[in-house]
Amino acid sequence: MKFYSTKDKSLRVSLKEAVLTGMPPDHGLYMPETVPTLTPEFLKRVPDLSFHDLAFELARVFVDEEISDEKLKDLVNDAFPFDAPLVPVSDHIYALELFHGPTLAFKDFGARFMSRLMALFIQNFSKELKILVATSGDTGSAVASGFYNVPGIRVYVLYPAGKVSEIQEKQMATLGKNVIALKVHGVFDDCQSLVKKALADEKLRKSFVISSANSINIARLIPQIFYYFYAWGQLDEKERKHCVVSVPSGNFGNLTAGLLAKRMGLPIRRFVDAANVNDVVPEYLNTARFNPRPSVQTISSAMDVGNPSNFERILDLYGYSHQAITRDIWGKGYSDEQTKYKIRETMEKTGYLCDPHGAVGLLGLEEYLNLEKKPVTGIFLETAHPAKFKPIVENVIGKEIPMPERLSECLEKPLLSVPLKNDYKAFVRVVTSDE
Ligand SMILES: *Cc1c(COP(=O)(O)O)cnc(C)c1O
Repeated sequence: MKFYSTKDKSLRVSLKEAVLTGMPPDHGLYMPETVPTLTPEFLKRVPDLSFHDLAFELARVFVDEEISDEKLKDLVNDAFPFDAPLVPVSDHIYALELFHGPTLAFKDFGARFMSRLMALFIQNFSKELKILVATSGDTGSAVASGFYNVPGIRVYVLYPAGKVSEIQEKQMATLGKNVIALKVHGVFDDCQSLVKKALADEKLRKSFVISSANSINIARLIPQIFYYFYAWGQLDEKERKHCVVSVPSGNFGNLTAGLLAKRMGLPIRRFVDAANVNDVVPEYLNTARFNPRPSVQTISSAMDVGNPSNFERILDLYGYSHQAITRDIWGKGYSDEQTKYKIRETMEKTGYLCDPHGAVGLLGLEEYLNLEKKPVTGIFLETAHPAKFKPIVENVIGKEIPMPERLSECLEKPLLSVPLKNDYKAFVRVVTSDE
């Protein structure tokens, strides 16, 4: 499969180039040249396939001749040693739990797949690959964990000192080995500038193989397609006929993957774009005007995005047609108060505990289902484990919640982060000193 740039449809690159460079030279976004439609026979088999089998068959569509079937099978088995269960919450409503990976959020799917794909693509390189990533918290933990122990790759995670949560810092900075956590004296934008400068530094690029691992890499999007098929396959036959999926969205990688799944033939009736008060995309859906603006802080912090980076992919996928987009997506934004109320109400009525992001997804889903005239099955994506947002969630429900073991283990480990001045020369010294 070849990939083009949303800014230049005549450009064609291999998956290898798209994955290792992350972004086309024109600063557009890579998109698959064709979105292949799967056969009705394949769809019939979906309910009987394991997550690994599905992941393999769907990945093969995008990878085709670049990686052998045997290697691809090993890759998906190694990338996903956890499940994505569909859990009933109330009548005709299910949570697709995407938090069973090592860092307890759906970003594990993308980060683990991307790291292993990169490792395969650099197999014949004589030098190690250095991955530079700036994070305000959520991405860094998934990327650090995703690249941990992956051969041939060293990853440098830059985060702003004092600006990430304790859990996030522990998840990024207790790993060691090939993961170097740099605690930068500055804000997120400083981390971002250091990384951008290094990626554009010709001198550095001459001596080292460097790349990034940001959220727009197509290798993070592809594995997110798998779980939409898997979720649909877990419904019963009747439910599968009329099914709506609600996606709590920030940078819109998750929703873009869902739309790609639909384009490949997965019969999802409609998608719900559930947002917090950072609702530029719901606003676009309702008014046809796209007005990006600075983000506002909320309790569903991973969705505090004012100019969603994957939105361009959605526009591209629908030929920039507002009408076509709104046929497939309905959207709305919700306040923190509504989100807290939904967490408490769902807990009391059903016993199911949502995290703040999943609760936004459920709010959107329920409102949308009330607009539908016929009975429809609803799925909302539970994108993080509630314990990741322990203080907020405990405050809302008024009782303590248990910590999953993989989280409490990590909280006990010592921080291995290296302090770094907000200074480019100092950063380059660290990046070039391990050889
Ligand atoms: C990143 C993230 C989101 C937003 O996903 P996008 O693909 O950026 O729209 C939602 N919930 C959680 C917990 C996240 O970490």
